[in-house]
Amino acid sequence: MTTRFENGIVVTLGPNNQVIWNGSVVAEGENIIAVGSASELQKRFPDAETLDCSGKVVLPGFICTHHHFYSTMARGMAIPGEPASNFVEILERLWWKVDRALDEEDITLSAQIPLIECIRNGTTTVIDHHASPGMRDGSLDLIENAVRQAGIRASLCYEVSDRNIMGGGVEENERFIKKIGKGDGQIAAMMGLHASFTLSDETLERCVGIADDAGVGCHVHVAEDLADREDSLQKYGIPTVHRLEKMGAAGPKSLFIHCVHIDDSEMDLIAATNTSVVHNPESNMNNAVGVTPLFQLLKRNILVGLGTDGMASDMLAQMRCAYLLHRLANRDPRVAFLEAPKLLLENNPAIAERQFGIRLGELAEGRPADLAIIDYQPPTLLSEANFLGHLIFGLVDATVDTTVCRGKVLMQGKKIVSMDEERIAARSRELAPRMWQRLSAL
Ligand SMILES: [Zn+2]
Repeated sequence: MTTRFENGIVVTLGPNNQVIWNGSVVAEGENIIAVGSASELQKRFPDAETLDCSGKVVLPGFICTHHHFYSTMARGMAIPGEPASNFVEILERLWWKVDRALDEEDITLSAQIPLIECIRNGTTTVIDHHASPGMRDGSLDLIENAVRQAGIRASLCYEVSDRNIMGGGVEENERFIKKIGKGDGQIAAMMGLHASFTLSDETLERCVGIADDAGVGCHVHVAEDLADREDSLQKYGIPTVHRLEKMGAAGPKSLFIHCVHIDDSEMDLIAATNTSVVHNPESNMNNAVGVTPLFQLLKRNILVGLGTDGMASDMLAQMRCAYLLHRLANRDPRVAFLEAPKLLLENNPAIAERQFGIRLGELAEGRPADLAIIDYQPPTLLSEANFLGHLIFGLVDATVDTTVCRGKVLMQGKKIVSMDEERIAARSRELAPRMWQRLSAL
């Protein structure tokens, strides 16, 4: 099937970014076969189905390089006891109970809801990090099914840690990595690790061995809070990144999430091993853990991407949060205008390419047909030269109208077509109180 997405303002992004007014993107099957002026492509592809994009900007679908679908049912929940006063207490009182309380249907719903939110926000690719110690084996299959039904792309992993039992989750990762193999461009697999401070050398060694044999990377939280750094220094005499690198967890396919509390020598090591870092500014602010040394990482040519850490699925909002945070943290209004969009628009596609083996983030012939089509009437001229200004101050607050992934329309006219949003939310509201009750007994 051939479809012309026509009459929109097409912003191609990629190395030769072009802004085409009255433009069209023509998709056939899963890929783009032409990008150009609407009138020209109408002549070239007269028999194609059409989807009118006038009054809209057509962009490549967005990518989230760190998410936690499983956190959904914590929304609106009262946390028993005193408020958590630090990061470790947040884990102990909230997240390490949420994940243990999830049952089979909760896992599916917890994935379906953020998947709907991804589609609503034009996010067509996600790298997720899952935990559900109460229902572990087979949990990644439940999420895979939800992702395939939603129609977006996702790289999945299970969060291994020694906090409940030694090596909890190793087998689930190994099974899923073997099942997915090289992947089909829609689903990929990684070795998921919680963090240095919940992993013994023995468990790390097992996980790295499995990841190496399968040729996949490790997806691990790194020095999110000072506690992770202090634990590594105290137990192993070296900081977190040095320990993880020594155990073999670094490398071009690995993702080091957060990297808030790392020193110069650790940044040098991340650069030397070509490991990617994922920055999650909203989550860091919410947990009050500190500010990732973003510019020092970028100065070393480290590939730094942008994630939401389960807080949300809106990548434009996350991009603007990074922009604002680093201006304030540096007390310098000259910075972050180029860097924050670069994390989202250039670096996230490069990270996704390392996981999925395909080049996303660009509207061009031969590239995947993943599109975010956004309601936006530019109040000033919009061109290649000033696109970032429109992105940070305009498009960020505009509404996504239509989302396309792998050539399939997943939302049109703001109506999700691949899933029954109302039924899923209603069922989640029904099950959440039971999950909260199980949680309060933990
Ligand atoms: Zn996380």
